[in-house]
Amino acid sequence: MKRVAEQQARHEKYMARFTPCPFCQGKDLSVELNGQATDWVRCNACGCTGPVADGENRAIERWNQREKKA
Ligand SMILES: [Zn+2]
Repeated sequence: MKRVAEQQARHEKYMARFTPCPFCQGKDLSVELNGQATDWVRCNACGCTGPVADGENRAIERWNQREKKA
């Protein structure tokens, strides 16, 4: 059970890096990685995707910036 709690805590910390989806306010977000320096954030609730970026961190950054402008 301890391991599950640790995984949950790590997941929550990771998800805290994302701003909620600007369209549906969903927080079920994941980063799509295709291994070709073009990653993007995807909302699993409504299916929208964020800007393509070079790397996971930049994809999250750009997703967060997009939300602020909206
Ligand atoms: Zn959404």
